[in-house]
Amino acid sequence: MKFPRLKSVYLDSAATTLKPQSVIDAIADFYRNHDGTVHRAIYSYAREATSLYEEARQAVAKFINSQEVIIFTRGTTGSLNLLAQSLRPKKVVVSQTEHHSNIVPWQLVGAEVVPIPVNDDGELILDTFEELLEGADLVSIAHVANVTGTIHPIKEIARRAHAWNIPVAVDGAQAVGHMKVDVTDLDADFYAFSSHKMYGPTGIGVLHGKRSLLEKMKPVDGGGDMIEKVTFAKTTYNSLPLKFEAGTPPIAEAIGLKAAIDFLSTIEHQEEELLAYATEKLQRMPGVRILGNAENKVGIIAFVIEGAHPLDIATLLDCRGIALRSGHHCSQPTMEHFGVTSCLRLSFGVYNQKSDIDALVEALESILQAVFV
Ligand code: PMP
Repeated sequence: MKFPRLKSVYLDSAATTLKPQSVIDAIADFYRNHDGTVHRAIYSYAREATSLYEEARQAVAKFINSQEVIIFTRGTTGSLNLLAQSLRPKKVVVSQTEHHSNIVPWQLVGAEVVPIPVNDDGELILDTFEELLEGADLVSIAHVANVTGTIHPIKEIARRAHAWNIPVAVDGAQAVGHMKVDVTDLDADFYAFSSHKMYGPTGIGVLHGKRSLLEKMKPVDGGGDMIEKVTFAKTTYNSLPLKFEAGTPPIAEAIGLKAAIDFLSTIEHQEEELLAYATEKLQRMPGVRILGNAENKVGIIAFVIEGAHPLDIATLLDCRGIALRSGHHCSQPTMEHFGVTSCLRLSFGVYNQKSDIDALVEALESILQAVFV
């Protein structure tokens, strides 16, 4: 497993994963040997690029077991904004611990955004879920919360929302790199994720959607590829998924994403041990408070240290070659829930080992001794 960028202890895969050599090679190989536009031209350059691009789409469908429609977007944010602009819901039920990209897009189209509460461990409280669903047009919820790492019970949420005929969109940004995702089993009407959080390139993401719903939805971007017939009086649209893919798409990025999927298929997700090890070590440190101790969580740990500002700690850790994020992690409502304004967050990728945790804890101990005592 070769990650050329990995030079020291990298513990911020929830922000972006580093890319394996195979992904970098696939992108370079495309530009070197297969470059061309897609869908537009008859010559061999375009035919070759089109078939690689469409193969990538099929690989994505297989990766999340989608039997419906796969739309390429610019990322999770792009997918959720596409949904918001096209669906224009009046009321959306989310969770208390959403990323801003599952709050603000709905607000931009004037929707009321109502959160499902969470408990002190960062788990959803679903006792009043049906009351929240009253008058809602959509439930949109993270599969995995990006600060606490909590895995939400999507299948149950979908079953209960569907009983009220309310569709469910899932923000899978923090799920796809950590666990096997099956959108058919979850019965997710929409499922959004970003390539760069699962070892693929930036600039591309995915929106899986049920055909019956997408057929009824209007495109949000106009331009090349998304049309069937254009006149100055009227335009008709292309069929799915191209109706939602205006303009020249991220072709090399789609090919890089396929390489990331191939890479992930060779990996066994083994974060549980690392998560338990890090949680125990951090909990033993005086003054450390972990935000979110859900029973079901992925390899993400958010924490604060009494009397030490997260930004100072992250800066001093960086000086020791340890990359860890500090801040509100694009979820100010989560910070509010836990009564803090910022925190530290470590998150694992496939390249992390127990020795990374040991290095982190050792560095934290020496920083706290040297600076904060
Ligand atoms: N949702 C969640 C849960 C996330 O963690 C992130 C990335 N931090 C996003 C959405 C946004 O992803 P992107 O910036 O790749 O669009």
